Amino acid sequence: MTDHLKETEKLQKNIQEIILDYLSVGIDPQKSSIFLQSAIPEIAELTMFFSFLIPLAKVEGNPTVKDEIQSSQKTGRISQISFGFFGYPVSQVADILSVRADLVPVGEDQLPHIELTREAARTFNNLFGKVFPEPEGLVGKFPRLPGLDNQKMGKSLGNAIYLSDSEEAVKEKVQTAFTDPLRIHPTDKGHPQTCPVFQYHQAFNSQEAREVKILCEKGEIGCVACKKRLEKALNNFLGPIREKRKYFASRKKYYRQVLEEGIKKTKKEAEKTMKLVKEAMKFNF
Ligand code: SF4
Repeated sequence: MTDHLKETEKLQKNIQEIILDYLSVGIDPQKSSIFLQSAIPEIAELTMFFSFLIPLAKVEGNPTVKDEIQSSQKTGRISQISFGFFGYPVSQVADILSVRADLVPVGEDQLPHIELTREAARTFNNLFGKVFPEPEGLVGKFPRLPGLDNQKMGKSLGNAIYLSDSEEAVKEKVQTAFTDPLRIHPTDKGHPQTCPVFQYHQAFNSQEAREVKILCEKGEIGCVACKKRLEKALNNFLGPIREKRKYFASRKKYYRQVLEEGIKKTKKEAEKTMKLVKEAMKFNF
């Protein structure tokens, strides 16, 4: 899409926010390199190589690409889908294989990307000899959470809670969350399995989730009270993360250094990969 091309000045800030998110949830830069894709030209080069190996039909069949195409058709913006956007699953293949990763932590909806990566690695290895592992996806205990409106969660849809959200912002978002539409009165028996608020209780308030489920099913808790409990649990969960965020945000030199070192380390690995790729393909001129 072309929307964000007019807002490139926001990039710097977005990069900063993501580094702060990573550090504040405890990602240790000594163990995990934080880097920028655009700072590693080898990834762009590998993307080009894989763009000749991955059939167009495989990219078209990717569920995220399919969804985007469908929604662009509905809004009449199909002609604005760029070549780069359409091919981004190929670029994700290169992201993963540039460091020859074995294991990729993902949400459930990203598993088709891992499958595409495995196929691409296999195709390359069969044609030119083994260079790449076939990576596995590592899905967490909660493979997918819906947005607060019970639709697919998405940054552009404004239906997510961010690590950087204030207590007040969390409160407002939880208050407006979708609930069981069949419940009109607080005494109506509810269906927690269809309610995103309950799914968030399960993920962030495991101590109370069982009780919430029973009370909701019996019609013994109102949605307002149930949301209040969730809001409290979420703010308890986010409290220490907010503190750490504040701490790292005041150390600009440190987090810039984390990024520089992550880029250096990743680039070295990607250079090794490209050397192996070119040797295997006999591109040694
Ligand atoms: Fe959802 Fe809680 Fe309302 Fe039940 S009581 S429908 S779990 S918000």
